[in-house]
Amino acid sequence: MKEIRFNVSPATGREMEYMKKAVDSGKICGDGEFTEKCNRWLREKTGAAGVYLTTSCTQALEMAALMTGIKPGDEVILPSYTFVSTANAFAIRGAKLVFVDIRPDTNNIDEKLIEEAITDKTRAIVPVHYAGVGCEMDTILDIAREHGIPVIEDAAQGVMASYKGRALGSMGDLGCFSFHETKNYSMGEGGAILIRDPERTEEAEIIREKGTNRSRFLRGQVDKYSWVSIGSSYLPSDINAAFLLPQLEDADKINDSRLSCWNRYYEDLLPLQEKGFIQLPVIPEGCIHNAHMFYVKSADLEERTRLISYLKENGVSAVFHYVPLHSSEAGKKFGTFHGEDRYTTAESNRLLRLPMYYGLEIDEVDHICELISDFYK
Ligand SMILES: *Cc1c(COP(=O)(O)O)cnc(C)c1O
Repeated sequence: MKEIRFNVSPATGREMEYMKKAVDSGKICGDGEFTEKCNRWLREKTGAAGVYLTTSCTQALEMAALMTGIKPGDEVILPSYTFVSTANAFAIRGAKLVFVDIRPDTNNIDEKLIEEAITDKTRAIVPVHYAGVGCEMDTILDIAREHGIPVIEDAAQGVMASYKGRALGSMGDLGCFSFHETKNYSMGEGGAILIRDPERTEEAEIIREKGTNRSRFLRGQVDKYSWVSIGSSYLPSDINAAFLLPQLEDADKINDSRLSCWNRYYEDLLPLQEKGFIQLPVIPEGCIHNAHMFYVKSADLEERTRLISYLKENGVSAVFHYVPLHSSEAGKKFGTFHGEDRYTTAESNRLLRLPMYYGLEIDEVDHICELISDFYK
């Protein structure tokens, strides 16, 4: 059997054609025709009042921190089990990070532990929808509303996934998507910011356009544009948007294909869970996920290390993540763990991600699962 890679960047066939159109139009800067089409598609799909492509999810998160007015000394609540960008976006504004433990079933922030981490300095709650499986948003939004604290969703992995019928990224005040090539839909490097409140879309347009009202100018609403607030350049080139658009147009096809692989993994590996060898992902009721990743949990770190080597020897690339942020050099400097680390480190040590990408074949999934079964024999 040939080698099976961990990830292959998605593409559905019309990328070159659309990029050529963008180049031929003679206008490849931000907010051209393809960006506009992606924004519209994302708005319609998520129900957010405004969605704007950005150069990455990291930049969308930084933009969200700016829009929330995060300043030195403010506290931000987030899980420690996440990618560095979730934390960086707020640390860069001088915030103190308050890490809260995760739930062992979904690896999402434990909503029951958030309230006790709130102080009079808390300025944002940042749930991360791990693997495209929604956090317990009703509880999180209730707590946030009661304390008057904004919610910024890190929905980097959550495009096309929902919680109780609402798109991930569209429920908090602000949400962030990633279109990095390791995600379900790719423009190489890219992302988007989602704005729930229609009254705030213009504020987002200004911050994203270097603090100018150029967007209003382009719509003919003002006769010249000028500097109106702080901001930065968060717009991707229209060539990148042209690479993304065909995948959004084929989003159901990509999603269905990933879900078939995910379901096959689950089916094939269920006997190993029943025998108590491994644990499979849990999808809570009300959550529709997008098969962003398939992971298993082994007994412990040592067993996981052996399983990764065994798969590697047999041509299958499997990986683990994340080093909990509170145990990293920067995490210690910019944050503290609130309460007890019951699950963050323990679950992180056991988790193993299996190959998952658009184009992975069902018989490859079967092959990987057979190898895992052999390992446990
Ligand atoms: C991928 C990812 C990001 C960063 O996305 P980029 O587009 O690469 O900046 C942030 N948060 C989470 C949870 C991610 O998985």
